[in-house]
Amino acid sequence: MPQYRLGVGLHIGQDFVTYIIADLRGHVVGRRRVDSPGGTSPLTVVSRITRDIEALIAESGVDRNSIVGMGIATPGPLDRAAGTVRNSPSLETWSDFPIRRALTSTTGFHCEFDKDATAAAIGEYWLDTTEGYANYASVYMGSGIGSGIVMGGTIYQGVSSNVGEIGHVTVDVKGLPSPCGNIGCL
Ligand SMILES: [Zn+2]
Repeated sequence: MPQYRLGVGLHIGQDFVTYIIADLRGHVVGRRRVDSPGGTSPLTVVSRITRDIEALIAESGVDRNSIVGMGIATPGPLDRAAGTVRNSPSLETWSDFPIRRALTSTTGFHCEFDKDATAAAIGEYWLDTTEGYANYASVYMGSGIGSGIVMGGTIYQGVSSNVGEIGHVTVDVKGLPSPCGNIGCL
């Protein structure tokens, strides 16, 4: 029965931190959204996130033992193997902080880590919103803009897992300077 196995989803964005608990069908059984921590140190934020997750588990009335793991999504670019964000304009103070390792340690959950745009892309497929198509790209807009690519029903990671980082591609050579150092980013 899908509802007997649950997962925690965590999205650390520039403006909000969002938590969900969902069953294996993707049915959301608990949700919480809090203001993003801004420039607060990642260690402090990890403590707060850990408390928020425990509070969500408690208020959702789910059995903690039924939770099989947690998916962590952040804006890119990232180093997926290291479990860190790399120079993300949206999460400047998080560069090279070991998010996945820290949250694995504080929550005790197995943690997967990927870009928010990639998580959104595979989510569309799992929720069966792609009209049967197993090869597509989806565009994700939060505080930045990115895209995720799905091929054959699975995530296309490319060489660096940063495929689809379209937000900081120059589209106007006479445009405004971007925090990333480029000019006229999308
Ligand atoms: Zn840029």
